[in-house]
Amino acid sequence: MTQGSKQGGGESIRWDPQDQPMVPDHPLLPYIEGDGIGPDIWAVTQAVLDAAIDQAYQGKRAIVWKEVLVGKKAQKAYGKEHALPQETLDTILGNGIAIKGPLTTPVGGGFRSLNVALRQVLDLYACVRPVRYISGVPAPVTHPERVDVVIFRENTEDVYSGVEWPAGSSEAKEIIELVNRRVKEAQGRPIALESAVGIKPMSRHNTQRLVSMAIEYAIAHRKESVTLVHKGNIMKYTEGAFRDWGYQVAAASFPDATLTETELYEHFDGVRPPDRVVIKDRIADAMFQQLLLRPEEYDILATPNLNGDYLSDAAAAQVGGLGMAPGANIGKRCALFEATHGTAPKYAGLDKVNPGSLILSGVEMLRFMGWHEPADLIRSAMEKTIGQKTVTYDLARQMEGAKKVSCSGFGKHIIQNLSAP
Ligand code: NAP
Repeated sequence: MTQGSKQGGGESIRWDPQDQPMVPDHPLLPYIEGDGIGPDIWAVTQAVLDAAIDQAYQGKRAIVWKEVLVGKKAQKAYGKEHALPQETLDTILGNGIAIKGPLTTPVGGGFRSLNVALRQVLDLYACVRPVRYISGVPAPVTHPERVDVVIFRENTEDVYSGVEWPAGSSEAKEIIELVNRRVKEAQGRPIALESAVGIKPMSRHNTQRLVSMAIEYAIAHRKESVTLVHKGNIMKYTEGAFRDWGYQVAAASFPDATLTETELYEHFDGVRPPDRVVIKDRIADAMFQQLLLRPEEYDILATPNLNGDYLSDAAAAQVGGLGMAPGANIGKRCALFEATHGTAPKYAGLDKVNPGSLILSGVEMLRFMGWHEPADLIRSAMEKTIGQKTVTYDLARQMEGAKKVSCSGFGKHIIQNLSAP
């Protein structure tokens, strides 16, 4: 295996020509501790990851952690205007894989949201959220175990482009006057001059790289289908184009590995050839009910930004909530794994909250690195711990007969269960 350059005892990760990570046995991995509950859940996550790696590889492999600063901690170290220091970005880009706790957007940093800024600056164009039920977690539906989907949400445009103007502003009026001239020519209904205005840009390039990543994942993980989720019945040239560009890139770049739902029924009587991923599409509102009614028919969802935002939280709720939902932001040769919830400031420093979301993000990171043995160990140790009803307050309040433990206590039980038969 190719080894990267030595950095403080760890080695940086290299990438092969197919942009897959080549991970040395002692990779240097940057982490962002995060704000609010970040330090509580990070300490537990790091301990669980290290213990599982040690148990799986007996010292042959280990992560060399390197803290990088963002947000309030960065402002303290570098000054008020440096909430997202270049040194942090360089370290993450140079190592390619990193993990983060939740972040508050600090006043004076010049960013609308640090989380969005990180995704944009590092060009992490896909927000990837695997949604799978962990046995024993209280869930609001009768059969949460039927859900096993990975959502690939476009991470750079649509509402994330952040182009909007407030109602009554001169900019909004200027845009509306321009638009209304075009609307008049087309004999449409003009927009009220006092409206607020937002622009929803969606491009072929950004759609197709997102859909390609989803299809590559489906092929690599032997999944049956990729579903393009859109609202193209109403927004024909943005959401409708997302659907069309998705089908186009599947046909052009993966002709022997994909087929459409129509082709499946016309040429294969509805029986999927095992080496083909079925590309289908669903209108966003219908997708919500499909996920509740027939979740087993969906493996991978590829979505524009806003649809994916709603869907990934709704899907996470279906299997027991955001406290346990892992996430990642992935680009070309760079991946940042993260807890999906926020900083929950009222619980900061209380050693109380559920570290499950960040631990499971760490599990996804290990899988991305090809370190499946410790990833499997953690998942089953977490299932054992929850099966023993030893859980943090959020799960305890929904479980009868639960033993409520602290954030660090939950971590300790998981570590004990790593070696349980
Ligand atoms: P939040 O931090 O996610 O907290 C909302 C509620 O969710 C908490 O009060 C708690 O519910 C529950 N919760 C969150 N994390 C939990 C955990 N690990 N274990 C158990 N319960 C948990 O949402 P918010 O209060 O709307 O946002 C606070 C800050 O976080 C904001 O500054 C926001 O911008 C930021 N944020 C950051 C990210 C990110 O970094 N990716 C994402 C979202 C929000 P109960 O009170 O019912 O126990």
